[in-house]
Amino acid sequence: MKSDARVLSRPIGTQTYGDRGRGDEGRRPAGKARVGPEAPCVCCGEWGGIMARGLRERCYSRWRKNGRLGRWPLLRKQAVYELEREFAIQRAREYEALRIGPGGLSRKRACIVLDVTTRTAYRYEAWLRAEAEARR
Ligand SMILES: [Zn+2]
Repeated sequence: MKSDARVLSRPIGTQTYGDRGRGDEGRRPAGKARVGPEAPCVCCGEWGGIMARGLRERCYSRWRKNGRLGRWPLLRKQAVYELEREFAIQRAREYEALRIGPGGLSRKRACIVLDVTTRTAYRYEAWLRAEAEARR
């Protein structure tokens, strides 16, 4: 599972999921950059076609290369799952603890250990992510 290894290379809650596109890459002409209309870049104010996160193409790739793209928030609002009950929050923390670290479990295994569905796992992840975002 190549993709799994990449996801787990960063602690849960610090990952960003917004740059993968919307699954319609297949219809896009090959090699064509996903650049939107021209606007001032959020980091430098220079005008250019906006790539994502309010960054123009050049800045986007620069921030991506130095691994600090997360510094610029996603402009499209992500769905936020609110964990209300104390118990659910505690479970989300247990889930996080199982997933991260060198011996971290896969999502599937963590679900088995905690006896939750993958849907619940996705909700925990969404909540942990929103929480990490708020702490930044
Ligand atoms: Zn810029």
